[in-house]
Amino acid sequence: MKATSGNSLIGLLVAVFIVILASVFFVTGGKFLGGESKERADGKGKTLIGKSLYAAKDDVCISNLNQVRQGISIATDPVENTFPQTIEETRLGTQFYSCPVGKEPYEYDPTTGTVKCPHKGHEKY
Ligand SMILES: [Zn+2]
Repeated sequence: MKATSGNSLIGLLVAVFIVILASVFFVTGGKFLGGESKERADGKGKTLIGKSLYAAKDDVCISNLNQVRQGISIATDPVENTFPQTIEETRLGTQFYSCPVGKEPYEYDPTTGTVKCPHKGHEKY
């Protein structure tokens, strides 16, 4: 009887330790235990969960830019080959015209028909 209660206490302590270890791992972003942790260019998302959230928003930014680029190619005059004068002429909706991470409006160049995100780290999107 006494040995059994001792074993369950050790089991409980081990379980609590594992939970603490896992929590620290997620909160520090895997930096402890020698895990290398890449910093984002904009410095957002310090924890593992935060990094995942911002990585998802990065993908939304890429998707927005693709949508806007398709909208621009649709709105481009095929005869005159003139690009839309404003990004709003793509008629996608305002949520497509700014970065979901930093909320900066996208930079549209009507002379070349190119659009890009001014957010730090999104230059190549
Ligand atoms: Zn962006």
